[in-house]
Amino acid sequence: MPEHREGTPTELRDLESFLWCDFDTMAAWRDWMKTRRFDRHEAAASFALAGEVQKALRCLEASNNGIAVSDDVAKAMDLLNLVIEERRLRPRITADGVRVDADPGDPVGHVLQIAIQAMTTYAWPRFKLCQDPSCRASFFDSSKNGSKVWCSMELCGSRNKMRRHRARADAATNSVIV
Ligand SMILES: [Zn+2]
Repeated sequence: MPEHREGTPTELRDLESFLWCDFDTMAAWRDWMKTRRFDRHEAAASFALAGEVQKALRCLEASNNGIAVSDDVAKAMDLLNLVIEERRLRPRITADGVRVDADPGDPVGHVLQIAIQAMTTYAWPRFKLCQDPSCRASFFDSSKNGSKVWCSMELCGSRNKMRRHRARADAATNSVIV
C-alpha cells in the first residue's frame, strides 16, 4: 500500500508518512528527515525518540480502529504528553484558530505538532491501524463516513472476508458432522 492515500489533506501528509514508515534502522529515519527539510538534523539525536513517539501514536491509531490495546493507551498518552513538554510545543491563538508551534528544526516536534492539530480538529479518528492482524499498516481513512477498517479493501479486506467465509463454512461442516 502506498505511503500517501488519495484524499489525505496536505497538512497531514508528513504525519501520515511518519506513521506508515518503518524506522527499523537509523538510515531509514535519516532518509525520512532528508526528504522533509530536516536534512541538517543529526539522526542519532532523535532516532530512539522518533521510534517511541511512533509506537505511542500507532497505539492510539489501533484504538481508533477498535483494536484492543488495553492499558497501553494510557501509557502512550503519558509518553506523548511528556515529549510534548520536553520539546516545548506551544499553543498559539491565531485568526485561523489555535495553532501549535514547534521548534522549526525539530522533526519529532514537527510530527507531534501535526498530531495535536489533528486531535484538536476533525482528523485524528481517521488515522488508523489496519484491522488485519497480519498487516497492521497505518493509514489515513479519507472515505466519506470514515468507516474503513482495512488499509486496502482489495488486499486486507478480501483476505479477511475469505477468512470469515472459511470459518463459517467450517462451522457449517462441523455442525453437519455433529
Ligand atoms: Zn492492511
